[in-house]
Amino acid sequence: MSNLRFKAVEEAFKRKAVHVPVPGKKTSDYFGMYVFDRNQMRKYLSKETLRVVLDAIDEGVPLERNIANHVAAGMRMWAMEMGATHYTHWFHPLTDGTAEKHDAFIEPNGNGGMIEEFTGKLLAQQEPDASSFPSGGIRNTFEARGYTAWDPSSPAFIVDDTLCIPTIFISYTGESLDYKMPLLKAIQAVDKAATDVCRLFDRNVRKVYSYLGWEQEYFLVDEALYSARPDLVLTERTLMGHESAKNQQLEDHYFGAIPTRVSAFMRELEYECYKLSVPVKTRHNEVAPNQFEVAPIYEETNLAVDHNLLLMSTMKRVAERHHFRVLLHEKPFKGINGSGKHNNWSLGTDTGVNLLGPGRNAQENLQFITILVNVLMAVYRNNALLKASISSATNAHRLGANEAPPAIISVFLGSQISAVLDALETSEGTSPIRVTEKTGTRLSLTHVPEILVDNTDRNRTSSFAFTGNRFEFRAVGSSANCASAMIALNTSVAYQLKQFKTEVDGIIAMGGKKDEAIFTVIRKYITESKPVRFDGNGYSDEWKEEALRRGLDCETCVPVIYDAYLSEQSVKMFTATSVLSEKELHARNEVKWDVYTKKVQIEARVLGDLAMNHIIPVATRYQGMLLDNVSKIRTLYNDDRANKISAQDFALIEEISERTNIIKAKVDQMVEARKVANKIENEREKAVIYCNSVVPFFDEIRYHIDKLELIVDNEMWTLPKYRELLFLR
Ligand code: ADP
Ligand code: MG
Repeated sequence: MSNLRFKAVEEAFKRKAVHVPVPGKKTSDYFGMYVFDRNQMRKYLSKETLRVVLDAIDEGVPLERNIANHVAAGMRMWAMEMGATHYTHWFHPLTDGTAEKHDAFIEPNGNGGMIEEFTGKLLAQQEPDASSFPSGGIRNTFEARGYTAWDPSSPAFIVDDTLCIPTIFISYTGESLDYKMPLLKAIQAVDKAATDVCRLFDRNVRKVYSYLGWEQEYFLVDEALYSARPDLVLTERTLMGHESAKNQQLEDHYFGAIPTRVSAFMRELEYECYKLSVPVKTRHNEVAPNQFEVAPIYEETNLAVDHNLLLMSTMKRVAERHHFRVLLHEKPFKGINGSGKHNNWSLGTDTGVNLLGPGRNAQENLQFITILVNVLMAVYRNNALLKASISSATNAHRLGANEAPPAIISVFLGSQISAVLDALETSEGTSPIRVTEKTGTRLSLTHVPEILVDNTDRNRTSSFAFTGNRFEFRAVGSSANCASAMIALNTSVAYQLKQFKTEVDGIIAMGGKKDEAIFTVIRKYITESKPVRFDGNGYSDEWKEEALRRGLDCETCVPVIYDAYLSEQSVKMFTATSVLSEKELHARNEVKWDVYTKKVQIEARVLGDLAMNHIIPVATRYQGMLLDNVSKIRTLYNDDRANKISAQDFALIEEISERTNIIKAKVDQMVEARKVANKIENEREKAVIYCNSVVPFFDEIRYHIDKLELIVDNEMWTLPKYRELLFLR
């Protein structure tokens, strides 16, 4: 009998590291060589064009067509010198990942030949044949086509032979059909609102940047083993598989050396990233076997989002050369840690002040506390929305499991900042605040300017944690587009800061002093936002009960979680900040519900197929062998001894029958549940039914399959087991 599993295991274990030579030069020699960055612009654009383009990038000034023509000409020249023959508008549709359609630079020259062409029009705008991209009915109802439009704030780059131009994707009537457009608007909104607030403290502030530093977790699996697991190939997670006797109990992977094959992969990945200007900085093993992390130096949020998407596609490309498959799924393996994408987020001014870092003097500290308290308020008021922004069919398997934040958004501040806020809350006027820590450290706010934040005061179980000079949004899923979380967060903070400014201005208008007004509003916010502060163990069951009492959103059904986008508060906020209109919010939710349904539907089909044509046949064949054995025993011993000798076989025969019968029955019921759900027209209702009446079958069916894996002859089992998938050498 040929067993694919054994062939795959053999292949995987024979594999050697693939060392791809990286030029022996310094990183700085090749950093950004495939990016049309400011250096290249200086070389390929005229002074005048460069000035206008930089204004567009830095100040958001719209570009005129004739300038676009000049940029396109320079860009094309550079790209062709780099060996590119094609170009594409690179965009972020609402399904995760990126999309692109490649066109060659060539155009007919009118004399039967071809000439390389790339005009400003082609650079600035394209009509992808996008009818198949999800739009939640926007295009169907309002306009049949959409177009992509150049985002000059993110530089063009080359992958293989193609010049990639970052673009937004909108319908003809102007609605966003992607993540980038609302992200740019959210960044703009938070810039405007935060600048207004900062100017209460420093009149020189003209712009506030939103920064993002992501940490990307992922698994690597050998490609031969991956190919022998249809569930991994089709859903990126194992829908079955008994825990390995050894998994992460010893946590030896985290501290262990990176396997040679993996470090060869990482080196090439870093090399490829550097050429694309993705500033990856750290690499290490994670807690689970075969799990790793890569993180860059933080960047402006729009660029950081593009770089994360670029990293994800580069990882997949590089992994194939090393005979690996990258799993970006949030929970590829049951019983071991899933993968997240921590989003480290902060705001900083054009004067070089990190608004989430304690300041150098009293004014800066008051500004720091002001921003911090407003973030706290924003997260409090929008905790349901922030959760919706990170929720997906795949991330649902990770959140709430015992190694990731629960499906509740709370903020960890640490004891020092908590002490400062507590002291502030009960203080009066604008008098200096002194906080004496248990350790004896003195912290004070207005007169003695020092707040030294202890960076080691960390809580790994919090979904939104303050880590000294930034917040870390940890609930983001490893496969997600960071933009979703960043849109929700930056918009929430923008709206909150706007309200804060209005309240402060109101008090000043009534004759109050500026500092007094700020203190008054901050105090009110500290009191109001208390329910969202939680420094305890976020994994505990007590927290779930406590969070419910505090009125935090504890919903766990993903399609219902998405409702938060349509709450009165969210609609008001998104429209007031001009990030998304009500129509767009509705349309985008339609897409979210549809994507959820489809993901669950695919998993259900794959699970049903595998159960019926991998698991049951193998189990039954093994049962047949046992039955043969029993009848042979009977022929040999035609007395009482036969039963005694076959007792073990009988037990297994019965267990196999019992479990295969249950599996078959459950698969049938799951198919029925799907049929019921599929008849529902309303996208939300359909997704909710999938969540409530299809998903629960997954674990029930899996339970029996995993038990069968333990008793069926190892030689006959066709799917690579966890112990084979998870321990790379
Ligand atoms: P950790 O201890 O969480 O692993 P790291 O030093 O690896 O911390 O940083 C994690 C990420 O946080 C990196 O991408 C880093 O660039 C980013 N980061 C650091 N400071 C800031 C900041 N002020 N704003 C946003 N991101 C930041
Ligand atoms: Mg971190």
